[in-house]
Amino acid sequence: MINVKHLQKSFGNNTVLRDISATVEKGEVVVIIGPSGSGKTTFLRCLNVLETPDGGSIRIGEEEVQFSQKITKRDIARLRTQTGMVFQHHNLFPHFTALENVMEGLITVQKQNREEARRKAESYLHKVGLADKMNLYPFQLSGGQQQRVGIARALALEPKVMLFDEPTSALDPELVQEVLKVMRELAQEGMTMVVVTHEMKFARHIASRVIFMDGGVIVEEGAPADVLETPQEERTKRFLSLIQ
Ligand code: ADP
Repeated sequence: MINVKHLQKSFGNNTVLRDISATVEKGEVVVIIGPSGSGKTTFLRCLNVLETPDGGSIRIGEEEVQFSQKITKRDIARLRTQTGMVFQHHNLFPHFTALENVMEGLITVQKQNREEARRKAESYLHKVGLADKMNLYPFQLSGGQQQRVGIARALALEPKVMLFDEPTSALDPELVQEVLKVMRELAQEGMTMVVVTHEMKFARHIASRVIFMDGGVIVEEGAPADVLETPQEERTKRFLSLIQ
């Protein structure tokens, strides 16, 4: 589903991604862990082309873009429509209800008519357990509910892959589980997911594969039990001993 080759990204003279190559199969849930500043968010943002890589290529589904060549807006759009992204902070429009927030992309990006968009938005809000909150504004929702609206908004565009960038790390502890539950259900339905998270229980039980990044490279990857319980690399061992 995803094939990344030799991806590179620098900000000025700070090289953040150094020759990252990775594949993600259809239906896989890949969890990326690693210290702060290791390039995890930048990698996800490159997959969604919120950052433009300096080199390498990304293929998602049928769409492939080579970043060593000059890329066009059309290239970005081709790749971006393959993925839905959920951010650490939900970025909902404050003056739109939950329903309107989910409808927005369907109308503006996918050019659906309002009725069609409403039906679809309602069904995805239902899916994330917010059928009774559709007409509330973000400020009337808890952080966990807001994040679930963010998930519904991304899902409604029916991407091939869902990207999650620390979706629970800004939440109060008691709200984390309701978001992880929705993510777990998506994983069980076979959604292809790439998730940056510090939730080690989620990684252990839900991930098909764990990638450990440090210093802009993939240091180690494998089955959760292998990477988390019996890591091979010193850097992985050190990181895990600090967080567990
Ligand atoms: P992580 O998600 O692993 O914490 P990030 O991908 O957020 O790591 O950041 C990796 C490095 O890239 C950091 O040194 C960060 O300061 C830098 N960085 C990220 N985004 C930008 C940006 N938009 N402009 C400049 N530097 C950035």
